Amino acid sequence: MKTVLADLDPAALSQWCKQEGLPAFRGRQIFRQIHHGADFADMTDLPLSLRGQLAEKAVAQPVRTLTTRISRLDGTVKLLFGLEDGNCVEGVLMRYHHGHTLCISTQVGCRMGCRFCASTLGGCVRSLSAGEMLGQIFCANRLLAENTALPEEDRRVHNVVLMGSGEPFDNYEAVTAFLRLLREERGVNIGLRNVSLSTCGLVPKMRAFADENLPVTLSVSLHAPNDAIRRQLMPVAQTYPMADVLDAARYYVEKTGRRVIFEYALVQGVNAGEAQARELAGRLRGLQCHVNLIPLNDVPERGLKGVDEATVRRFLDTLTALHISATRRREMGDDIEGACGQLRRKILDGPAG
Ligand code: SAH
Repeated sequence: MKTVLADLDPAALSQWCKQEGLPAFRGRQIFRQIHHGADFADMTDLPLSLRGQLAEKAVAQPVRTLTTRISRLDGTVKLLFGLEDGNCVEGVLMRYHHGHTLCISTQVGCRMGCRFCASTLGGCVRSLSAGEMLGQIFCANRLLAENTALPEEDRRVHNVVLMGSGEPFDNYEAVTAFLRLLREERGVNIGLRNVSLSTCGLVPKMRAFADENLPVTLSVSLHAPNDAIRRQLMPVAQTYPMADVLDAARYYVEKTGRRVIFEYALVQGVNAGEAQARELAGRLRGLQCHVNLIPLNDVPERGLKGVDEATVRRFLDTLTALHISATRRREMGDDIEGACGQLRRKILDGPAG
């Protein structure tokens, strides 16, 4: 098995170089190169023989961009990433006024089983390593670097959201290692305040994460105002009742001083009525939070449908009137299967799928 060097922090990479009989400065050189998207062949500051030697033992870039699809509506780019073992995951690159945001995947598939989510349809194939999460950013950075139409300061990823396929807290060790690597100055150098992590609500991990002192924005997929509805949509609600999820969110706010974001996908006939909005407001009262309303992207395999604009508006207005901070999430890349798991499903299912 080759060593995936993008998984290693600077100290571990220097250690690896030492084992290979290389001086410490090579470790620093290789770290910088890898995190700037270089493969061994591109590392022209290394002797040719050394590049060959490294390529035999290690992998520099564990992720490749297989396809890109650009939305004609808003320029959002959907990326399909290939991994060394032939698996693939997806990412979405969005341009906002405050720079580019990349949505990355943390697992191939997902085992949480949310009824409305395409990522979970085939279960979880495996978790990604820290380097495979970083590798998605290296790929997007390479793509942006080539885009000379953009202002120079915009030719890189500025913000990262862990909202692609997978449950980040079901891959806790690799995700926290990834977050620590992300802010390396010699690497991609993205501050954790520019990162959002979304969880379906694995309570013990939410609490552990609050203690890590990693200042990311925590999003929690709530999608319901009570346990009965939540259990219909999310199997994880059988294990962790909503009261415990909200307590863990409160703990996160206390520990980090940051508000929590609750994601709420509006599903026709299930959780989108005014009574549900009022119940939700009641549950969230006093919690420093913001609610992100998402009209469900239809998942025909599961027979669940989104709602019309008027329903979104009513839900939003009810929350606002009850002093709960809420907005409707902007939809991007609607014409390119922007929602998580959708593109990979299409590719796996083949052209007829
Ligand atoms: N596993 C994590 C992160 C992945 S999904 C989590 O559950 O939070 C990112 C967000 O998209 C989650 O809030 C998820 O519930 C939501 N989502 C999944 N499928 C969707 C769909 N078909 N329509 C709208 N939102 C969806």
